[in-house]
Amino acid sequence: MDYTTANKPLPTITDLTRPFWTAAKAGRLVLQKCDHCGTFNFHPKAWCINCGSRALTWTDAQPTGTVYSFTISRSVAMNYQGWQADLPVLMCLIDLDDGARLYGQLADCRPEDIRIGMRVTVWFESISDEAGIPKFRPLK
Ligand SMILES: [Zn+2]
Repeated sequence: MDYTTANKPLPTITDLTRPFWTAAKAGRLVLQKCDHCGTFNFHPKAWCINCGSRALTWTDAQPTGTVYSFTISRSVAMNYQGWQADLPVLMCLIDLDDGARLYGQLADCRPEDIRIGMRVTVWFESISDEAGIPKFRPLK
């Protein structure tokens, strides 16, 4: 079952977030990077999370990183029944090798095998004609 046939809600794509979703559709992980201080933003914002600069450039991010923290979801809220078949879902904070931190789902990993510090790599799930979602799996 793919993303849309599973009846999962699609993200609201705005002018601010469109580069993230369309890059993921094309198999690229891009994040906003501050032209002033070099900090990566995630999720997309109109200003740098570190210095407040509005000079942000969409930049290819490293596809590998480590699990900083995680949680294991074993139930879904009423409005998100499309994810029922995916349970348990492993949601992680990932520290990419270039210093960016983002959150994402870890796939291809049993809940008992996830560890803080685990090496992971990104992959992309197509979710519509215009968007993909970056997800992660253990790096072998
Ligand atoms: Zn900055």
